[in-house]
Amino acid sequence: MVRCRCFEFPFVWRHCQGESTALEGRLTFEANRNAIRTSACRVDSMRSSKSDESLNMSEIHHECGVAAIYHMSGCGRSPMCTDEGPRQISRLLPRMLLDIQNRGQLAAGMTTYSSDRPNLLRTRKDVGTVTEVFRLNHRAKVEALMKTYAGSAAIGHVRYATCGQDDRNYAQPFERKHIHKRKWFSFCFNGQLSNYGLLRERLLADGDHHLSLDTDTEIMLHEFGRILSNADGRMDWIDVLKQTTEGFDGAYSLALLTAEGEMIVARDPLGVKPMCYVHEGPLFAAASESVALLNLGFENEQIKSLPPGHAIIIDPKTGFRMERFAPERTPAHCFFEWIYFANVASTLDDRSVYMSRTHLGEELARAERKLDMVPLDDPDTIIVPVPDTSKAAADAMAYELSIPCREGLIRNRYAGRTFIEGGRARKAKAATKYTPLREVLEGKRIILVEDSIVRSTTMNVLLDRIRDVGGAKEIHVRVACPPIVAPCFYGIDMSTIDQLIAPKYFGIDGELTDESQQKLADDLGADTLRYLPVEAIARAIGKPADHLCRACVTGKYPTDIGQHLYQIALDNRGSKVDSQRTYEQLAEVMSQD
Ligand code: SF4
Repeated sequence: MVRCRCFEFPFVWRHCQGESTALEGRLTFEANRNAIRTSACRVDSMRSSKSDESLNMSEIHHECGVAAIYHMSGCGRSPMCTDEGPRQISRLLPRMLLDIQNRGQLAAGMTTYSSDRPNLLRTRKDVGTVTEVFRLNHRAKVEALMKTYAGSAAIGHVRYATCGQDDRNYAQPFERKHIHKRKWFSFCFNGQLSNYGLLRERLLADGDHHLSLDTDTEIMLHEFGRILSNADGRMDWIDVLKQTTEGFDGAYSLALLTAEGEMIVARDPLGVKPMCYVHEGPLFAAASESVALLNLGFENEQIKSLPPGHAIIIDPKTGFRMERFAPERTPAHCFFEWIYFANVASTLDDRSVYMSRTHLGEELARAERKLDMVPLDDPDTIIVPVPDTSKAAADAMAYELSIPCREGLIRNRYAGRTFIEGGRARKAKAATKYTPLREVLEGKRIILVEDSIVRSTTMNVLLDRIRDVGGAKEIHVRVACPPIVAPCFYGIDMSTIDQLIAPKYFGIDGELTDESQQKLADDLGADTLRYLPVEAIARAIGKPADHLCRACVTGKYPTDIGQHLYQIALDNRGSKVDSQRTYEQLAEVMSQD
């Protein structure tokens, strides 16, 4: 470690190439060292996603959510400001993060910009929920934090991951300090670089580079830094994005803040991950989901989705501008956002999440009528949603079929995540996740509406409890989604085929036959089980099928590297190879080509 006389506090030089000059070396202060050592790592999290069934969890998880807010000066005061005024607009960020907490509960963080303090950028991040990290339930502490981190611009992040959950270094934003204000920046993103392994190999190939982390976030950090340092003069961030993202394959919605007070919000060329924004007078705000902007006080009509391949730059001198940074491509929005991940109050890419789920319920109702397996006019037949995400579909199905929709399962919001503990403890935890209501279920024929089945443990336990505790006489599972037969390489926590239950019954094509669906029903302990077909997705969302990523239900990926990884994952089937190895194998295969 070197002690810096100028700054009167310790710093380390840190650079992926090892070479540093007095002017161009990256000054990474010791205070920030941990942030540089690790990141909110989608790739790390995948490494820990073992292909055995020890990580059974009924739910799939998003990796992250992003939010940003900026109050420009010289053009009035936004009515959204708190009493403390525009220079403390950062006070609104934690509540925006709360609204997207559904996208990650393990860590949260925020970087703010203020020209009023020596630390132009200041980052707070930690393990825990937004409430815990920002001490929102402690009036004095939250007030002290909001003062310390006050700024006219802020970016923030919520994170989910299956590893490193006790380590604050995995939290984002990821700040990179530098003596040049332009090269001092902080960023966070939602998504995953599918070609992370390749980029890493390429970076390390000459032996002069060193990466202290093993994550795509670190790769992005170095790529931005490298482009900025190689530039002859001042470089526009659109050009930085153009150059860095040329080599990226995957999904990335990002927010970035520089020590010059510039904010950049960008969305990958396929628009896999959502990014919504609003620009109203002096205020700009963006978030992974529209609900965060709606709850700030904006109208639905004011909130827009950032077009794929575009970036918004907020410059303290010139204000707002939006530009394309990547060539136009057919979009591939993740269909799971509408079906499962996003807050039901959100609207993404002009399609309401609630209405999409409602249409899925209508699809289920149509299919049920055709199926004619369950007596629909028997008063003992009721529809029960698996809370909370299946509720809109269950309500719509019930309405269409004129069957009561009853709250037969009460979700225990404090049960925590089922994958944290193994063995019996895991099963016990799955059992405490929902409480069946005997008053509703006893003696009834239940049509149980679920939004997806990824792995089997919690569904097994749930069905047992509906029968044993609830006293239901029949259970007919209806899944408002096609079977998930392929991994996700774009930032969702399901990255090996062996982790998934559906390929074992429906093959890699997800072919739905009566026999295969009945076999799964028998194994899970249901009387019958039916999925929706793949075609129902586009109909329900109201987007052309070829504008959606449906790779996990079709095996057809919207990017070349995704398709390569899938082939490797297929070859690895049954071999207990974990997902991280899949990424390493990609690098090996590509280097041989
Ligand atoms: S593979 Fe599935 S979960 Fe992943 S981005 Fe595509 S649709 Fe979404």
